Amino acid sequence: MIKKLFSVIFLFCLCAGIFSGCTQAQSSSSAATVKELYAMDTVITLTLYSDNAQEEITKVNEEIKRLENLFSATIDSSDVSRINKGAGSYVLVSQDTLNVIETALCGGKMSDGALDITVYPIVKAWGFTTGDYKVPKDSEISQLLKNVNYNNITVDKENSSVKIEKNMALDLGAVAKGYTSACIAQLLKDMGETAAIVNLGGNVETVGEKEDKSKWTVAIENPNKKDYLCKLSVNECSVITSGAYQRNFTQDGITYHHIIDPATGYPANSGITSATVVADNSALGDALSTAVYVMGVEKAIKMYQVYRCFDFVILDDSNTLYVSQGLKDNFQLADDTSLTVKYVNE
Ligand code: ADP
Ligand code: MG
Repeated sequence: MIKKLFSVIFLFCLCAGIFSGCTQAQSSSSAATVKELYAMDTVITLTLYSDNAQEEITKVNEEIKRLENLFSATIDSSDVSRINKGAGSYVLVSQDTLNVIETALCGGKMSDGALDITVYPIVKAWGFTTGDYKVPKDSEISQLLKNVNYNNITVDKENSSVKIEKNMALDLGAVAKGYTSACIAQLLKDMGETAAIVNLGGNVETVGEKEDKSKWTVAIENPNKKDYLCKLSVNECSVITSGAYQRNFTQDGITYHHIIDPATGYPANSGITSATVVADNSALGDALSTAVYVMGVEKAIKMYQVYRCFDFVILDDSNTLYVSQGLKDNFQLADDTSLTVKYVNE
């Protein structure tokens, strides 16, 4: 958990050059209010530029709690818990839950099942839901894998209902933070905010534009050292990173992490160290960053070339940084000569 608190994407305000993860950030002219909240098992940092920051923070807090109470698999009354307890029958859920599940199903299809929100029983078996970690037996994993298949989720939009098959269970952990940051961004805009940064433990959403009209700068953390990998100059968008360094445990000298390959039931081992997706839709971006991490470089590039709805920065375990074409002109590498950059065309 402690690791998780610190492994957020570093954000810089171009003019101030300050980490937003710290206590202060500034734009060129007006001072920013930076507020840290803790929810959804992560640190949430809001950087707000309006004069109405206190009221915005109160409303954002309420919105996060509202969504957490729908999406958390460990809150008994949440939509997700009710779907899990009602396995085998349709369960009435909120529009937000329908939206997240539909996005997760879309990510599941795009990634050919690398993202699969029905992997929850396996995430649980490894202890990632409680922190009570253990390496499950092969036989337990193969038994649980039989019920992992996102195609067995049925969404009845007309009746706002969702059904999973018996013995299945859902976990929206790979998508919910992205969806939540989009809701917060919308809420801030509705309250008149013209420039803000929303950072949910590595899911970064830039809102509006800076007063001087220059682009936002988002720096992606280098998982191998206390530095950044690269900086991206972006307009309003989401920058979302998945990595094994975020939540893991070590047993008998082997480190096991929280992103599971639904094909094997074991932590993904695709050769990717860090997968960042840049997208307009942050829920889908969150889904795809997890998917890319599972898929590995080759399959992720194919998905990018087929769907063309996101950009990426992927670091692999031989220190090659793959950067998609759309980021080429807005990308600045850290002073780290050990990195080889490869640009990937659409
Ligand atoms: P984080 O939540 O740390 O930012 P991700 O967005 O990559 O990271 O989501 C990881 C979470 O999603 C895990 O903690 C687990 O709850 C769930 N999960 C793990 N593997 C998968 C997968 N292949 N498909 C869908 N959800 C997954
Ligand atoms: Mg994700």
